[in-house]
Amino acid sequence: MTVSGLVPSSSRRARLWAQMLPCAADAPSDCGLCPRLKAFRNAQKAPHPDWHNAPINGFGGLEARLLVLGLAPGLRGANCTGRVFTGDGAGELLYPVLQQRGFAKGGFGHGGADDLRLIDCRIVNVLRCVPPQNKPIGVEIRQCRSFLMHEITLMRELRVIVCLGGVAHRSLITLLGQRQSVYPFVHGVHYTLSTPEGRAITLIDSYHCSRYNTQTRRLTPEMFQDVFRAAAALLA
Ligand code: SF4
Repeated sequence: MTVSGLVPSSSRRARLWAQMLPCAADAPSDCGLCPRLKAFRNAQKAPHPDWHNAPINGFGGLEARLLVLGLAPGLRGANCTGRVFTGDGAGELLYPVLQQRGFAKGGFGHGGADDLRLIDCRIVNVLRCVPPQNKPIGVEIRQCRSFLMHEITLMRELRVIVCLGGVAHRSLITLLGQRQSVYPFVHGVHYTLSTPEGRAITLIDSYHCSRYNTQTRRLTPEMFQDVFRAAAALLA
């Protein structure tokens, strides 16, 4: 499948990546903690030299009170454009909903050539590198959790985390030292938990906004709106 038209030009790509201000929770661009993922990333460089082909770090300020936790970059999505939820179908649902709830401003371009800004919101994936067939394995989720832990520690104002899908949910529950049986993934559920430093947070679960989930109507736009309406109400 060709992706011409999705890849921003060099100047647009530079502008896009400039929005991704580095922070202390970032994975290094050559992170090799997951050999399988590093090899897969590197294998994309020859056929797709214009793609990002590196770990995708968080988007939005660390001072945000809302964290949206996704699964992993898509091969032709974030792995290509360099920004979470940009370049494939999931962002086409997520970003407009964030805009409607006041968590994003500016235009959203499918390829990321835009002036989109997040407001009081940060987005990151539990896995920062694209996995083959979109399927991470457990050891990779565990390896990347160290970056997520650092991220949550740095987000001193964090109050609400929206987990997109069961993998993100379970990774967060483990990170917070809780038992999965006590806090199962349920779309729309709210759990009151605390960060490792003892700060209270609310976890809200949502089905992932993947194209598969929206096409099968497991997740409707109305259901997704309700999730972020609830997050906005908690932060009002
Ligand atoms: S998934 Fe995370 S831990 Fe693994 S190589 Fe990528 S950045 Fe490093």
